[in-house]
Amino acid sequence: MSVDYNIVRSIAQYFIEGRDLTFNNTLFKSSTRNLTKAGFTVEHTTGWLGPLNSLFKSGDLKKITHSHPNRDLLFKELTKDPIGHLIAQPSLIESLFYDDDMSFLCENGTKMFIPTGEVAENSLRDKFAAVGIPVRANYSSEEAGLIAAECKDCPENFHVAQSNVIVEVDNRDSVCRRRQQTRKGACNPPAFVCYSLYPL
Ligand SMILES: [Zn+2]
Repeated sequence: MSVDYNIVRSIAQYFIEGRDLTFNNTLFKSSTRNLTKAGFTVEHTTGWLGPLNSLFKSGDLKKITHSHPNRDLLFKELTKDPIGHLIAQPSLIESLFYDDDMSFLCENGTKMFIPTGEVAENSLRDKFAAVGIPVRANYSSEEAGLIAAECKDCPENFHVAQSNVIVEVDNRDSVCRRRQQTRKGACNPPAFVCYSLYPL
């Protein structure tokens, strides 16, 4: 499955749910490299729709690569542009807002929190709920792209991206097994079945 297809399928979720494309995306990526003294670097891109940038107008992408970021400098950076969709690991957000007050995110234009890489615990979800910011998780992988997206009406329940995967519940150890599917809907030959396990 091509990289472009995976990107477009992820973006499709914004169209399916009628999300506002004009909000910026603020994307956090952790790094093991030694970064600047501030502990993070920032890259700006006009538009976050990738291959669809020429077709639709969207907000801009701010990618923040971080490794033990300085909290004050990071907050200063976040005040420069409306945050929009905040895409980050829950553990990073927990560490930045250990004092519980998430009003900073509201004041700086956060419209949605999209947790990546880890499960957002209820305690963190409650903090976002307290300031009126919806949390919308999704599961994805490099090979299959989007696997499932959290329901906008029923938090913590997920819609499977049926164009990309079949998700099988594996009750033996409480995880799901997914088989990668072709775009036409047929399973790939067994040699290409992906046996990666995901905690859905
Ligand atoms: Zn739903």
